[in-house]
Amino acid sequence: MKKCPFCLKDQQEDALYCDKCGRPLTGEQKKKWYFRVTTLIIAFVSIGPLALPLVWFNPHLSRRAKIAVTVIVSVATYFLVLVLIESIKVIYTYYHTIFTF
Ligand SMILES: [Zn+2]
Repeated sequence: MKKCPFCLKDQQEDALYCDKCGRPLTGEQKKKWYFRVTTLIIAFVSIGPLALPLVWFNPHLSRRAKIAVTVIVSVATYFLVLVLIESIKVIYTYYHTIFTF
């Protein structure tokens, strides 16, 4: 048995095309630019958790890797939001003490 690299459905060993999604099972699959690791890193740095669908729909990553990336990005997002709220409070009190008499 082999798995379709796109939909992960089990296939016959001699099958040339996936019987579920119809994509070719043989030959070197060219990795799409939006599934490359560099693209993923740039996407996470610039748009944060909004880049998670790129991980979820990536056929080259295992389920375990997808879950790990999702958890790491969620935790990082949570703490970055806390830091953002804290810095907004600091900026607010700073300008509040300057501009009130
Ligand atoms: Zn398939």
